[in-house]
Amino acid sequence: MSKKTIAAISTPLGEGGIGVIRISGEEAILIADKVFKSVSGKTLCSFAGYSALLGHVYDGENMLDEAVATVFLAPKSYTGENVCELSCHGGRYVLSAVLRAVLKNGAVMAAPGEFTKRAFLNGKLDLVEAESVMGLISAKGEEELKLQLAAKNGRTREETDKIEALLLELSSNFAAYSDYPDEDLPELSQENFVRLCKEARTRLKKLIETYDSGRVLREGVSTAIIGKPNVGKSTLMNFLSGESRSIVTEVAGTTRDVIENTVKCGEIVLSLADTAGIRRTEDCVKSVGVNLAKERLLSAQLVLAVFDASCPLEKDDLEIIDLLKRENTVVVLNKEDKGSVLKEADFEGYKVVFLSAKEGYGKQALEAAVLEITGAARLDPDSAILLSERQLDTVTKAYDAVCEAEKLILSGYTIDAVGVCIDEALNQLYTLDGRRATNEVADEVFRRFCVGK
Ligand code: GDP
Repeated sequence: MSKKTIAAISTPLGEGGIGVIRISGEEAILIADKVFKSVSGKTLCSFAGYSALLGHVYDGENMLDEAVATVFLAPKSYTGENVCELSCHGGRYVLSAVLRAVLKNGAVMAAPGEFTKRAFLNGKLDLVEAESVMGLISAKGEEELKLQLAAKNGRTREETDKIEALLLELSSNFAAYSDYPDEDLPELSQENFVRLCKEARTRLKKLIETYDSGRVLREGVSTAIIGKPNVGKSTLMNFLSGESRSIVTEVAGTTRDVIENTVKCGEIVLSLADTAGIRRTEDCVKSVGVNLAKERLLSAQLVLAVFDASCPLEKDDLEIIDLLKRENTVVVLNKEDKGSVLKEADFEGYKVVFLSAKEGYGKQALEAAVLEITGAARLDPDSAILLSERQLDTVTKAYDAVCEAEKLILSGYTIDAVGVCIDEALNQLYTLDGRRATNEVADEVFRRFCVGK
């Protein structure tokens, strides 16, 4: 094998009970034997896979740490290569020293995501599954974790396999027809063709629709809290903030930004893009307030429209209601503790929640409403889901190609022209799972990983 043996610290840098150095490649066990001496005197090379040995790690004569070495033999390992993991004490200095010793003895430093890239190249997982490994690591809540896990366990692959089978049925018919035009082959009737296209198109469309709901869980939603002065907008924000006043949100890629003014509402992170504006609205509602509210409503994915449940609706409330859209609004009837004059029926067609921000109840109902309005509630954690822009892009292209094929066949185009579209759709599915992804596409996926994964 020409590939070099790679090594990296696979656990986060910091102080912890244990820290793991992972070594992968043909010479992984040989190299590990050069730095690790077992208590029993056995060498790692003499060892069967899937076993662990207690011992010490050395840099030459210098003992660095006590460690447990775990051996996985190719192809039954994460990367599909020989792998040795040294579980040492989890300190920055210790781990760096052990890694240096490993590198000195013949391994090279792993690039970001290189272990998972090798797993992909060795057929251990496809590109969608690899992307969900990264998603699992950065999952911020239980629902997102479930979705990433479903993708990691091949749920998306199961669905794309079904779509692929439909496209292959179409494609094989074209191939047979164009290879043997003189034979009397049973031709796929237009009716059957359209039926198969329609089924593939519907499945692709459903997959595309999962993207936005999943994104809500991954990235949060831009949210506007609006309402006239004194209805309790700030109190609601504080109520939602609870212990998690500001949440660290990981932006896709390598940078980690702290986005302020975010609160967590159940599983969903709400980015309150303009918290200062909440106060400003107060000064302005009577003059230009409605314009300001309009502006904020335009850019928000989710609107929490707050009203004082204990008072009848006033002109300002009605002006605000005029601006709302049922699809993205949760009507929050606050101050329920003071008794409620307002009724759900006053907001026909809206998702309505009664709560008391001051007394601190009603949060669960609000969380459920937000889940529903954002579409996250409709996500089935056990089914296929698209989890990255790249996945969305390929599936959208496949969908467009199938739509085009359907259109052409209905307008009486030749088999050849239609076949090109079906092949394009198949090609996009192969790019999705990596069977036909270019090196650039694969590199782009793994570049986003951290070193050690
Ligand atoms: P904003 O102007 O909309 O941001 O409203 P504030 O959050 O500043 O609240 C205005 C007043 O209403 C304050 O005196 C709050 O204590 C009070 N308030 C807010 N929420 C509630 C609630 O749920 N129940 C009661 N009784 N009072 C509330």
